[in-house]
Amino acid sequence: MIPQISQNDDTIYALATPPGRSGVAITRLSGPRARAIAEEVIGGKLGAKRHAVMRRLRGGEGEIIDDALVLYFAAPASFTGEDIVEFQTHGGRAIIAALSERLSGLGARLAEAGEFTRRALLAGKMGLLEVEALGDLIDADTGAQLALARSGIAGEAEKWARALRERLVETMGLVTAAIDFSDEDLPPGHDEAIRSSIKALQGELAQEIERSKRASSLKGGYRVAIMGAPNVGKSSLLNRLIGREMAIASEIAGTTRDAIEVFLDLGGLPVILIDTAGLRESIDPIERMGIKKAEAMAESSDLRIWLYEKAGEREEISARAGAGDLLVRTKADLYGEEPGAISAQNGYGIDDLLAQIRGALEERAVDAGYFAHERQRQLLSEAEGALLEACEIAREKDMRYEFLAEAIRAANFALARLLGEVDVEEALGFVFSRFCIGK
Ligand code: GDP
Repeated sequence: MIPQISQNDDTIYALATPPGRSGVAITRLSGPRARAIAEEVIGGKLGAKRHAVMRRLRGGEGEIIDDALVLYFAAPASFTGEDIVEFQTHGGRAIIAALSERLSGLGARLAEAGEFTRRALLAGKMGLLEVEALGDLIDADTGAQLALARSGIAGEAEKWARALRERLVETMGLVTAAIDFSDEDLPPGHDEAIRSSIKALQGELAQEIERSKRASSLKGGYRVAIMGAPNVGKSSLLNRLIGREMAIASEIAGTTRDAIEVFLDLGGLPVILIDTAGLRESIDPIERMGIKKAEAMAESSDLRIWLYEKAGEREEISARAGAGDLLVRTKADLYGEEPGAISAQNGYGIDDLLAQIRGALEERAVDAGYFAHERQRQLLSEAEGALLEACEIAREKDMRYEFLAEAIRAANFALARLLGEVDVEEALGFVFSRFCIGK
């Protein structure tokens, strides 16, 4: 259970839809006075719970704000577990501002970032891992990212962590028995049971940490660097790729003259294409900085596409490329078309290249773990570290059970933090820092 933390009694409101003009805007009001405040605004009774009704909203002076669809969710069957009223108004700025002012005037307060979700969490409506997945759901740009977020929302991550924790507690039971009873009273093979159980748990954690690295790359998008000498055709290839209909491209803010990054939805896989500065020896200090950056970027990329112009250059390039990198001959319209070569000018081989990129990345997307967040993976690593220590202790002939218990306790504590069962406030501050107002 989530520890009871002093619940705020304020009634809060926020725009749930994006700010700016829109056809419809939804303003959400939650808290003990939500119903009373809403009835003031509509000058009458709300409809039955979960029934949409048309009502005229009025300001403090009786002026009309808008005619809106009003929905009432009675506590505790609501997102936050409190009374919630949703106003679906027209999405004009003046309407949104007038309604905000009216709600403030009646004593509601503008919600802080993530406050609705925080209340849902504190009311036990969702677990911490679900809350994190909810953020991912809203941030998901592509199908594969959506599927990842959905597995969190569906509680798969939580189920996995709870099952592991249960087995950890069972193992702790074995260790406690060994502390409490003498050797003669323990069943034969007791030490061995402890040993193999700890080993298995550590192995599973290590495996999930590995799988979750893939989840993390998937969440952030796969970084694909286009590499090669100046004028080999990197920018042209990038333009060709983003010029396609399926490639919804946008320039990512904060890019320097050294590298341009664009986002691609490659059949559901999120791809960040990076056009690096040309790699070559240079004496120009600024250019050299650019090249250094390009090299670092290439290092940290998930995939590199090395371009070369003439068949004879392949060997030199392949010496620099790593395993799994793609080597592609460019300007096929000038130097000859053959499978594997491309032309950014006439589009030759581009489909094949996209399929190759997708193939290379798809492998990494399969069997992605549950834990895409740094916070989660750190806690998993902590738990695994403690179990590695436990493995060491368990290997000794005369097991020191107290030390073993201590290590298992540490692993258990890390998992409890992962699930938000202890230190929840600390985790919340971190988790909600990336939420925006209205969530
Ligand atoms: P970068 O420095 O590697 O980014 O190379 P650019 O994309 O700027 O290309 C350098 C030159 O090669 C430009 O003049 C392009 O028009 C030309 N170029 C790039 N790709 C092709 C191609 O596929 N065919 C032909 N004929 N020219 C190309």
